[in-house]
Amino acid sequence: DLLRIIGQGVERKQAREEILRLASFPSLLPSPVIELDAAGQVTYINPAAEKLFPGLPAMGQSHPLLHGAAALFAALRRGERQDEESQEARIGDATYELHISYVPDIKLIRIYVVDITRRKQAEQEIYQLATTDSLTGIANRRAFSAVLAKELERARRYGVPLALVMYDLDHFKHVNATHGHDVGDAVLQAVTGLVRNNIRAHDVLARWGGEEFMLLMPQTDAPAAGRAAEKLRLAIAAHAFDKIGKLTVSFGVAAFEPRDDQTSLLKRADDALYRAKAQGRNRVEVLAGEALAK
Ligand code: GH3
Ligand code: MG
Ligand code: MG
Repeated sequence: DLLRIIGQGVERKQAREEILRLASFPSLLPSPVIELDAAGQVTYINPAAEKLFPGLPAMGQSHPLLHGAAALFAALRRGERQDEESQEARIGDATYELHISYVPDIKLIRIYVVDITRRKQAEQEIYQLATTDSLTGIANRRAFSAVLAKELERARRYGVPLALVMYDLDHFKHVNATHGHDVGDAVLQAVTGLVRNNIRAHDVLARWGGEEFMLLMPQTDAPAAGRAAEKLRLAIAAHAFDKIGKLTVSFGVAAFEPRDDQTSLLKRADDALYRAKAQGRNRVEVLAGEALAK
């Protein structure tokens, strides 16, 4: 009868409107949405994704946005993973976070993409501030302690050598008193520059505090670290520093022993440095582990 037919027409109209309303969600979303079918082909991308990644429909999973997630797509399709997974993808300077889930009813992988470039940059800046000494640009004490812990663990586990060099500027109070604190600061920067130019890429240099510095030398035994410190000592002693002329530095060298922890190794480097100072400065003193027992 007529009323029923009219009723069905109204329902169909409402259903169509509902479908259009739902379709507007991905199409108006300012963030990219991408869908892949069971074969891993791109079956849908919303306008935001089209705009940001124009090559994506043609490239499919080989596009840099999706490339790193290929194994995850396969696991989702096989039903090995069910939860939503997050992955990051870098394209040039931009970082994207992919929220990837499987929609089993329609056998689709859906990816919501969020541009997290600015958050990543902010995190990087905060990390930089937290781990770097602002005067010299090298690692600060906190960052160095973390590296030292890691390298100690590695030396212990694999039995590889590890040397710690601690150095302190000689009579630095005199520099400050005679030329002022700003000149003193510039000297700290200049010494750091000299050291940086005379160490290997995997040596780790840090400002331990004031005018005391640490140099961690992985894969280096006591004699080799002693020679490296001697080379640094000579380079600094030969340098003509702006405004102050000559300056010397004393070095203490300690080599890792199996029973060392961070405290004992630091203590031995500090003891070695103390000896170098006590024996007249501008020199390198090496303390191997056995020297402790003597
Ligand atoms: P020594 O040969 O025994 O090391 O003598 P020293 O005069 O260097 O003595 P000490 O190491 O105790 O002196 C540290 C001085 O370094 C005192 C402090 O004012 C100065 N100092 C520490 N941090 C800074 C800094 O950031 N800038 C400047 N300009 N001076 C600093
Ligand atoms: Mg000093
Ligand atoms: Mg000092």
